[in-house]
Amino acid sequence: MTKRNSSFHKAQKQEIFHQSLCNRYNRFRFFVPLPYMGNFDIHILGCGSALPTTRHLATSQVLNIREKLFMIDCGEGTQIQLRRSRLKFSRLNHIFISHLHGDHCFGLIGLISTFAMTNRTADLHIYSHPELQRLMEPQLAFFCKGMPFQVVFHPFDPKERTIIYDDRSITVETIPLKHRLPTCGFLFREKPLPNHILRDMIDFYEVPVYLINRIKNGEDFVTEDGTVIPNGRLTTPADPPRAYAYCSDTSYLPRIIEQIKGVDLLFHEATFAQTEAARAKETMHSTASQAAQIAKDAEVKRLVIGHYSARYEDESILLEEASAVFPNTTLAQENLKIEL
Ligand SMILES: [Zn+2]
Ligand SMILES: [Zn+2]
Repeated sequence: MTKRNSSFHKAQKQEIFHQSLCNRYNRFRFFVPLPYMGNFDIHILGCGSALPTTRHLATSQVLNIREKLFMIDCGEGTQIQLRRSRLKFSRLNHIFISHLHGDHCFGLIGLISTFAMTNRTADLHIYSHPELQRLMEPQLAFFCKGMPFQVVFHPFDPKERTIIYDDRSITVETIPLKHRLPTCGFLFREKPLPNHILRDMIDFYEVPVYLINRIKNGEDFVTEDGTVIPNGRLTTPADPPRAYAYCSDTSYLPRIIEQIKGVDLLFHEATFAQTEAARAKETMHSTASQAAQIAKDAEVKRLVIGHYSARYEDESILLEEASAVFPNTTLAQENLKIEL
């Protein structure tokens, strides 16, 4: 066999092998849960508004993003709900407070005091309007003297759209809102993930270990005889990054649409039904249909509404009104877990 023929045969063999691997991969990828995608879960701890009821607790949520916990708002009763959720207290290191109305922050001192009693040592980071630090420091000095950990405050201006948290896997950006006090929502956005390696292909082309990270990040591989193996043969594209937007409390505010465009999940407050539209305007809250209009115009994938006024015995009217505008709407409720 001539040299040309032999390399032709080699290339042909490679092609057949590649096809068979791809077929095998494509056959199984829809049945086998992909192991590389970490979790991104939203746990609703409380979804009532200012006036406590027996049906709902004040606002709080926990995001579990690849086993790191992030709390948004911390109304009264949050620590009990956190216990119920079975999430590990020790994994919670970051708390984001949207504004300083009591239904969003009265639970903080109780939660911190419990952390102190359970011998936590890791710093606890709190992101909020600067005023919270001034309010909390005397309480911490009085109730939590000699705590075995530090509370680190990260003040920011809720009127500015800013990235207030950034780590290897996510960013958190503020969403300036319109309410009776300076208020912002939070946009949690996953960073793009590297491509998935096709292990069999890596073995077949004998890609050295030290090049794996570069291959994951999109580089082609050049074999010893100079053949370029395109990246698409060695990897499959990463799962698209996921995003969650939390918007509470706020008047109807179309200017947020551009910022939250296309997110996987939007939590939007829906304190009132349409009959209370005037009250919503006056108290700077939203109606269910306004929340749904934001979801529709922002082309989000899914909407969850909450922060219900205590006047509703059940929230079906809110769900009806929202679903009429944006069908993919869910009612928040305590202990609901939503996976992205
Ligand atoms: Zn509120
Ligand atoms: Zn409020």
